[in-house]
Amino acid sequence: MSYRIFGAPHRYIQGSGAIDELGRIAAPFGTGPVIIADAFVLDMIGARLETIMAAAGLSPKVHAFAGEITYGTIESVQASLGDATPGVVIGIGGGKSLDAAKALALRLGLDVITVPTIASNDSPTSASIAMYDDDHTMISVDRLLRSPEAVIVDTALIAAAPVLFLRAGIGDAIAKKFEAEGCLAGSGITPFGTRPLTTAIVIADACYRTLRQHAEEALRSAERKEVCPALEAVVEAVILMSGLGFENGGLSLSHSLTRGLVKARGAKAAIHGQHVAWGVLVQLAAERRPDEEILDLVGFHQRIGLATSLADLGMADPTGEEIGDIATWTMTAPHLKNLPLAVDAASIGDAIRTVERLAQSRG
Ligand SMILES: [Zn+2]
Repeated sequence: MSYRIFGAPHRYIQGSGAIDELGRIAAPFGTGPVIIADAFVLDMIGARLETIMAAAGLSPKVHAFAGEITYGTIESVQASLGDATPGVVIGIGGGKSLDAAKALALRLGLDVITVPTIASNDSPTSASIAMYDDDHTMISVDRLLRSPEAVIVDTALIAAAPVLFLRAGIGDAIAKKFEAEGCLAGSGITPFGTRPLTTAIVIADACYRTLRQHAEEALRSAERKEVCPALEAVVEAVILMSGLGFENGGLSLSHSLTRGLVKARGAKAAIHGQHVAWGVLVQLAAERRPDEEILDLVGFHQRIGLATSLADLGMADPTGEEIGDIATWTMTAPHLKNLPLAVDAASIGDAIRTVERLAQSRG
């Protein structure tokens, strides 16, 4: 395909108290939206949500989502709507509720508004929906026909959440520059199915620079449950820039490695953003970058609590066979061609061993 695509949400709204905008944003889609939210999020902000919706003249149907994102659970959410014909789907909470909202929107042919209450990855901005089976194995990545209508990020809610989520979000986001650049340098394609535009590369680079500059201060602020300019900058990098960067710039080896890690001893329990944080180090090693460049990022990871070794991910003392298994499972990922050079299971295994050695030298 010779043309190139840039896709993005229609509106992105971020700031302390931004959730108050939800009624105004949802109102043009009719008086009966459907809200899908985590039960604990409804416990936390349910009353406020009612006030916001009532002020905009909306009477939403609220569904507390629990469980896994399977075609079966989404079908039962649809069934629970009965005769209601919502005009828009609103997802509020963590990754599962937002993905459930997206999956329902895709099924009903509706727009979706995402309201993340944690910043553990960039899925709120993205059109991708990770679908699972009942055993919690990812079976496909579906795509919304239209990017989210709006993404509403209330930084007061993000700052109130456990800091491990923001740390993971930084890990997920920091890889995007290297993934997009590798995709452009090679012959890779983006989730839109085309070669990247320069705009995506610029955004992914700005994402990286923002994180390097502000992540440490933002995490300190999040520890105190306080919003500050550094936290605002980092949340924008984690949710908006990272999402635009990967959707329009492409994913690569950093994310491919998660295919192995989700099956690996101990490491399978680690959060996605920690997987990707470790994955970007392996990608740099697989690209045969100089040790100093990898060590620079290892040092940054160690300062802010991101994984630099398999032990950090929960897999202490990995055997050669275990490393080989991760490399082999990684080879099943579709993003591997988005690298400037070809890799195979052996070269990925070598890159993992290089990172283990370099992390230990700084451990
Ligand atoms: Zn990710």
